[in-house]
Amino acid sequence: MLRPLRLLLLGAPGSGKGTQTSRLLKQFPTIEAFSTGDLLRREVAAKSEIGKLASNYISQGKLFPDELIVDLTISALSSHQVLTSDSSWLLDGFPRTLTQAKILDQKLNSTGAPVSLVVELDVPESVILERIENRWVHVPSGRVYNLQYNPPKVPGIDDVTGQPLAKRDDDNVEVFQKRLDTYRQTMDPIKTYYSEKGILQTVSGETSDIIFPKLVELIKSKFAA
Ligand code: AMP
Repeated sequence: MLRPLRLLLLGAPGSGKGTQTSRLLKQFPTIEAFSTGDLLRREVAAKSEIGKLASNYISQGKLFPDELIVDLTISALSSHQVLTSDSSWLLDGFPRTLTQAKILDQKLNSTGAPVSLVVELDVPESVILERIENRWVHVPSGRVYNLQYNPPKVPGIDDVTGQPLAKRDDDNVEVFQKRLDTYRQTMDPIKTYYSEKGILQTVSGETSDIIFPKLVELIKSKFAA
């Protein structure tokens, strides 16, 4: 059992946030997970107003405007009724700017349930670039497959729903390099911000199998009930 955990999972694009998230959900079923990239891709798929705006940003590897992404994230937390001090949740891919981090804190302060842990996944860039070429996703659920490490049982098909998998438009070398550069530029102030609050931890490793047990140990050491 875990005490309520409100976790931000940071890491470069392709560092395995999605994979760690799905493994964490199996290990700790009380956690609700939200990926801001998935929230946006769902809006794009639904052709909503926000989705129409988002598709340009995503396809160019640019960050979506801070106020809009914070609102989308808070609405997702709110509609799952987890903005309470006894709920556990994690955000994957948020915040991406210091402004997002600060607005999130302001909004959470009024709920009495602030962020309790921030973990950065630290994976070498060479490993990330190789991984991204092999990545396929099931857009409706956000499930991620890797042709090398965890291929789907049937090629091109999601194991759970039987629906087709897709290659993300932004998983190409040019856009990907841009996303990595943006990550590097924006992460330093975010890490300083959380480290000054005393809640930042880093977990390093080349593969998800190496990182996952370290992540579980870290969470248990701080949040076991
Ligand atoms: P991801 O799936 O986390 O790699 O995100 C894919 C794309 O969605 C990013 O390249 C951005 O365009 C957008 N995005 C996701 N999360 C955020 C965020 N927190 N802030 C701004 N843009 C975001």
